[in-house]
Amino acid sequence: MAAQAGTLYVVATPIGNLQDISPRALDVLRSVSLIAAEDTRHSARLLQHFGIQTATTACHDHNERDKSVQLVERLLQGQDLALISDAGTPLISDPGFHLVRQAREAGIRVSPIPGPSALIAALSGAGLPSDRFAFEGFLPAKAHGRRQRLQALLNEERTWMVYEAPHRLLECLEDMHEVLGPSRQVVLCRELTKTFETLHGAPLAELVEWVRNDPDQQRGEAVLVVEGAQPRSGDDINPEALRILETLLEELPLKQAAALAARITGEKKNRLYQIALEKGAGK
Ligand code: SAM
Repeated sequence: MAAQAGTLYVVATPIGNLQDISPRALDVLRSVSLIAAEDTRHSARLLQHFGIQTATTACHDHNERDKSVQLVERLLQGQDLALISDAGTPLISDPGFHLVRQAREAGIRVSPIPGPSALIAALSGAGLPSDRFAFEGFLPAKAHGRRQRLQALLNEERTWMVYEAPHRLLECLEDMHEVLGPSRQVVLCRELTKTFETLHGAPLAELVEWVRNDPDQQRGEAVLVVEGAQPRSGDDINPEALRILETLLEELPLKQAAALAARITGEKKNRLYQIALEKGAGK
């Protein structure tokens, strides 16, 4: 750790309801020498609301790499700095990664001040399994890229989440419907912590219709929480591979039948072995 160096505080701010800021976040924002903010004009409203007069400087996607050099310099001189984004936790689909990395590489103490983040708020209210989950940020804006990403997520068994812009919400849900199928459960978490907060979960076929028929649901900020895929069972294996496996099992021991069926069909040997076991082979 650099001697006499300051601390970089990574401070979470509200995602809608100003009362969600923590007392510690307020203390830090008051006491640091400078606040690096994604948009200084946007953050001025928050700081003004809490009577915080600390100076701010812009640190956003377009200047972050260069700006970080100057900010790390100040930290090395012993100043404490805070990093905030427009809403929620910095670095979570927001700027800050380059600054935090450069600061850590320079041996500076980085201290997170935890607080709101839309993804955790959504997960905590969605009622889908939350013991393991994945966050996918924003899906690609163009349909082709978005469908490819959804295809890659088709068999993800953990609950997963995406952020979506209001003007793309309906087309995103339509693509999910096409790629993930009509029965996958998705919870739309909109305007969290704000007046029109809505958490609405339904199978995709219903959810698409609900959003299509109610333009109000296409407004504001949204997180989509998606049920994970059902764990793979023998039912979703290629039926031809199953037939070959069964035929081979009539003539060969389990291990050999699974290995040969894997070579013929391209399915995984362990998977076929497991299915054969479940079917009672090898007893
Ligand atoms: N850093 C933020 C965080 O920790 O949640 C996320 C910033 S990202 C640029 C903005 C996206 O977060 C929005 O497009 C929306 O998907 C989601 N979001 C932010 N605030 C939200 C809210 N109050 N309700 C629902 N989603 C929200």
